[in-house]
Amino acid sequence: MSDCLFCKIVAGKIPSKKVHEDEEVFVFHDIHPWAPVHFLMVPKVHVPSLAHAGPDHVGLLGRMMALAPKLALEQGCRPYPEGGFRVVVNTGAEGGQEVHHLHIHVMGGPRPWLKG
Ligand code: AMP
Ligand code: ZN
Repeated sequence: MSDCLFCKIVAGKIPSKKVHEDEEVFVFHDIHPWAPVHFLMVPKVHVPSLAHAGPDHVGLLGRMMALAPKLALEQGCRPYPEGGFRVVVNTGAEGGQEVHHLHIHVMGGPRPWLKG
């Protein structure tokens, strides 16, 4: 999608602070963090939202969720159960989604946070 912000970030056309990249996933710091650790995990393919997920996306979504704890620890979240992190997928207008390329927010670190 040529006019999609996160597709442009994946393609390197818009700069980001990269956390991780592999064949199918790109991960970068949120530009307006809510918490001491706040990064976004996006599939490299353009999927508009979690509402568009179907059987074809089961493996991808599973791998993204399974990657989140490893990256959270690497980014400074303390281990479970004292530490931990929050995973959020805003979906659609009433779900608070502003960028229409599926993304998983991962937030953590010492409280208080700016939000939540
Ligand atoms: P959402 O409301 O779930 O669609 O969240 C979109 C998120 O993208 C927000 O938390 C924004 O701060 C973040 N964001 C917007 N533009 C950028 C950018 N250029 N680089 C990194 N994060 C961004
Ligand atoms: Zn996109």
